[in-house]
Amino acid sequence: MSVDRCPNCNKIISPQERICSNCGLKLDNNSIGRINSIYHKSNIAVFVYLIIFLIGALIYAFVNWILAIVVVVILMAVSLYILFK
Ligand SMILES: [Zn+2]
Repeated sequence: MSVDRCPNCNKIISPQERICSNCGLKLDNNSIGRINSIYHKSNIAVFVYLIIFLIGALIYAFVNWILAIVVVVILMAVSLYILFK
């Protein structure tokens, strides 16, 4: 189930609402869709970065910190490219 947010005040709104009950902004599906795709993308990004740092921490613990930093930097660059190209 997707959660919609007001693009202006960030309050969670129901899909039937045409006017935000918090700030009174007129809501159209385009602006809601745009803001929510940004939210979904940043949620994925946070998740990906957590995984990357976990991998880095494991390499740091079991191999060495140089390899950990190299792997984290490479994975960050790749994930940035994939998420925001
Ligand atoms: Zn609002």
